[in-house]
Amino acid sequence: MRVVVNLTRCEGYAQCAFLAPEVFQLRGDEALMYDPQPDDAQRERVLRAAAACPVQAILVDRIEDREATADARSASVAAARAGSVPAGGSFGRAAPNRASESASGLRDAAIEAMRRTGRIAIVGASLAGLAAAATLRREGFTGSLTLIGDEPHRPYDRPPLSKQVLDGWVPADHSGLPRTDDLDARWLLGVPATGLDLFAKQVRLADGGTVDYDRLLIATGTRARPWFHPDEAALDGVFLLRTRDDAAGLQQRLADRPGRVLVIGGGFTGSEVASICRDRDLAVTVVERGPAPLVGALGGVIGAVAADLQRAHGVDLRCGVTVAALEGDAAGRLRRAHLSDGSTIDADVAVVALGAIRNTEWLHGSGLAVGDWGVGCDAGCRAFDAAGVVADDVFVAGDVARFPHPLYDYEFLALEHWGNAVAQAEVAAHNMVSAPADRWPHLAVPVFWSAQFGTNIKSVGVPTYADQIVIAQGSIAERRFVAAYGCQGRITAAVGFNQAKWLDAYQRLIEVAAPFPPDFRHVDQAVDGQPVSLELPDRKIRDLHATVVVTGHDPSERRAELVYHHR
Ligand SMILES: Cc1cc2nc3c(=O)[nH]c(=O)nc-3n(C[C@H](O)[C@H](O)[C@H](O)COP(=O)(O)OP(=O)(O)OC[C@H]3O[C@@H](n4cnc5c(N)ncnc54)[C@H](O)[C@@H]3O)c2cc1C
Ligand code: SF4
Repeated sequence: MRVVVNLTRCEGYAQCAFLAPEVFQLRGDEALMYDPQPDDAQRERVLRAAAACPVQAILVDRIEDREATADARSASVAAARAGSVPAGGSFGRAAPNRASESASGLRDAAIEAMRRTGRIAIVGASLAGLAAAATLRREGFTGSLTLIGDEPHRPYDRPPLSKQVLDGWVPADHSGLPRTDDLDARWLLGVPATGLDLFAKQVRLADGGTVDYDRLLIATGTRARPWFHPDEAALDGVFLLRTRDDAAGLQQRLADRPGRVLVIGGGFTGSEVASICRDRDLAVTVVERGPAPLVGALGGVIGAVAADLQRAHGVDLRCGVTVAALEGDAAGRLRRAHLSDGSTIDADVAVVALGAIRNTEWLHGSGLAVGDWGVGCDAGCRAFDAAGVVADDVFVAGDVARFPHPLYDYEFLALEHWGNAVAQAEVAAHNMVSAPADRWPHLAVPVFWSAQFGTNIKSVGVPTYADQIVIAQGSIAERRFVAAYGCQGRITAAVGFNQAKWLDAYQRLIEVAAPFPPDFRHVDQAVDGQPVSLELPDRKIRDLHATVVVTGHDPSERRAELVYHHR
């Protein structure tokens, strides 16, 4: 069986760990790890844990592996899809069953024909692609569905790769995502898309084939940024971490007990790798160009906490320096790294964790607004062309998307978050088969989690969209707190260390533009609750003359409203 835990929802209550301890484990106080492919003997326990989870975060396979991989589509399974999805059965919030609405006769004939017999192609067969495909079927789409992926594998989950896979508990090939819906899809795997013809409505493939579509979803995500020097990148012992094959190779090398691991980059991935190295009692050095780990994402105050956390766990953390060169021996094996301050570090493994590059090259020349920033789209997930005009039949979701968020001054966000990939894919899928008046905006508040050094770090909102930060609950000294982020007197984000249960409440505060600093005298009052500067360079804050608030819970009812302030 296959399991995935939606850790954007998990609040760390640990019922699952009590009910199925072989499958779910809490590391430290709240960092949940689990086996995504437990033995079938665990099924009963896992189902009990899923039923007991108070936030319905645990999803399991509900569909037998009976989908065709051949080109020919099987017969219609519309009848089988007509039923609704039980709570917790989808990756994100369960979409309302729109199939029933098709009887209302409100939709125009073209949309209805599209829903019945249209052709939808999804490029990128990973988290966003799978979530979109599942949503399309739940929405009652009975036409042909083709998923195109350049990796040879069915969709798998990436967050476990830097956590339970690297630590050796779970094999990399056990990270497949569960089948929650009957997709009746045609899977073209191991075949990259190489081009897009917007006028012919056709995707070109590397094997010379083409796929025609009426609606297209672009969900090609990102890839790891490689080490800048190709010869050094090719040294034996230099690793990236994005795919399941990357994780399998690195896990194997860590199991061989290298003398020292060098992690280049102190962002989330680099910090999680360092954490696993310490769990495995391996010597590890993290080299971070900024003043502290996580500083680019969470600011200087939390960066300092992250630095203390790393050092307390025995990481040799070097900040304010960069790796200038990697040196190998005559056999082509990594031996040492030269740093910008003139020092050297002997290491036989280096993990390059320098962020991601968006997979947009296949769209060059298509006429869409694509570049290093990703694929530009509106809040309804429709792609922009190079002139900034939306296309009505091309949609974008997941890590590759760049979209305006009303809560953040309509600034364009490009998020590399599991929760965003799912939520945006669901909105995109709904909009692909809906009339313009029925379309949803993608208004989900960004949510991200990380598990490192026995700590569950969870963030809601956009921490970089702030000028001040305050410890609102708990204590930094105990590394158990919630920090609220504020911009011009309203809450824009919150970050919890081992306090996941509070973050949902902060999400609501962000949606209603609640005042900053928040006034929490009732629970876990902070030891030091005075706002201080966020310590994020280069942040430009404009005068506040209008604020957007978001209402509604499910994607179908969420709306943005503008509140004007007179100046
Ligand atoms: C190691 C690791 C740990 C992570 N941990 C966390 C975490 O703790 N919390 C969190 O919130 N997020 C985490 N993430 C991020 C999360 O996994 C991503 O946000 C999510 O995978 C995005 O899904 P996606 O479908 O948009 O893109 P991807 O997962 O990148 O999938 C895109 C797919 O498209 C394929 N593709 C690319 N180009 C083409 C082409 N031309 N033709 C066909 N296919 C193509 C790619 O190979 C890939 O399979 C982690 C990511 C990694 C790598
Ligand atoms: S909230 Fe998290 S820790 Fe608690 S039962 Fe659900 S998945 Fe497990």
